[in-house]
Amino acid sequence: MSGNAQSPADRIKALVRMVKASDLYPKNPIVNSATTEPVIWVDGRDHLLFCSNNLLGLSNHPEVKEAAKKALDRYGLGSGGSRQMAANIDVHRALEHRIAEHLGREDAICFAAGYMANVGAIPALMKVDLLQSIAEAHLGGSSASSSTEKEAGWDVFSEELNHASVVDGVRLAQAEICKFPHKNTSVLADQLARSDKESKFIISDGVFSMDGDIAPIPELARLSREYGAMLMIDDAHGVGMLGENGRGSLEHHGVPPSEVDLQMGTFTKAFGGIGGYVAGDRDIVDFLRISARTYIFSAPLPPAIAAGVAEAIDVAEREAWRREKAMENAFYFRREVESLGYDTLGSEAHIVPALIGDELKAAEVTRYLRHRGIVAPHARYPAVALGMARIRFVMTCEHERDQIDYLLKCLGEWRKQGAS
Ligand code: PMP
Repeated sequence: MSGNAQSPADRIKALVRMVKASDLYPKNPIVNSATTEPVIWVDGRDHLLFCSNNLLGLSNHPEVKEAAKKALDRYGLGSGGSRQMAANIDVHRALEHRIAEHLGREDAICFAAGYMANVGAIPALMKVDLLQSIAEAHLGGSSASSSTEKEAGWDVFSEELNHASVVDGVRLAQAEICKFPHKNTSVLADQLARSDKESKFIISDGVFSMDGDIAPIPELARLSREYGAMLMIDDAHGVGMLGENGRGSLEHHGVPPSEVDLQMGTFTKAFGGIGGYVAGDRDIVDFLRISARTYIFSAPLPPAIAAGVAEAIDVAEREAWRREKAMENAFYFRREVESLGYDTLGSEAHIVPALIGDELKAAEVTRYLRHRGIVAPHARYPAVALGMARIRFVMTCEHERDQIDYLLKCLGEWRKQGAS
């Protein structure tokens, strides 16, 4: 190292100090109350919150809290290890059965977070050859056959706006990665047709987390059938919210579960807790139990959370008004914010972005809203494309019309006074 070269630590510190002094560094407020309520306590006063994922208000539901409290008393705080060691607890299994039943699937596997589900399950699926060689070595013969004409291995086809956890899961997979443009199934069809790999895997978000639009699931399912590709949908934002029974983007499109190999989701959003899962046919789920590293080498959900989430699924099924009201709120807000001149980027669900464009301008809007008593952070590069910064509003069933109208009033005023 030359005498005046900065050490890596000094370089990081100098750069971060510079960025922190600007609007490029996020300045999230410290909240002194539950962040799952539409009104939160920040800096000694009430603020309206328009970015909570407690979409159905179940985080604070009395029956959900009661179920979690009972489990806390019975099982204690933590799980005491991973599912494959000590902590294969009945509440974990009950939650897996409950979410599988909600989605009409044979089984499900739970992880400590949705992120862990994607980074664990996606690369795990591509380890099937390893299982085959282990099985052959120990059990003799061949339990599964594969075609011989194509090259061994996997091609992964991943939607360009997929969530970061999907992107990371795909990066960890031992596969060729092919990104396809947003909702562009004709490019995907071309890519699939050109693939010379024996195994193909298509993955897409069901509802896109920064845009709030919905994936073309029927077309994805058709292509997966036509090309013999496995299909996985990350429906973190769809399950609990879309479809007549809240079963998510498949139900929204009338696609039966049997047409999508795996549905991934999270308990963090509609069900008001934390945790992730992958649901599908039992044998595939059982394969994930022995191949997903985030399941094998990490602790599962705390039992109290698992019990609370199972109760939250019951309430969500019983009380359809919750998702209906969240969607009505979203519909109303989207229509009104568009009439103020904001581009909502094709949003179709409870996530409603308002495009600002420039990164620093978006930070200005967040600051302005905060000054008006509203917490609504902006999403910017690299979470979204450069120059496509936006305020990402999330409408829940707990927002009241006058709260949404106040937000609209502020956005209207900013557009008149501050947008220039
Ligand atoms: N997938 C999508 C589409 C998401 O939006 C998120 C969370 N924002 C996740 C996965 C990860 O879920 P979790 O917060 O449970 O880790």
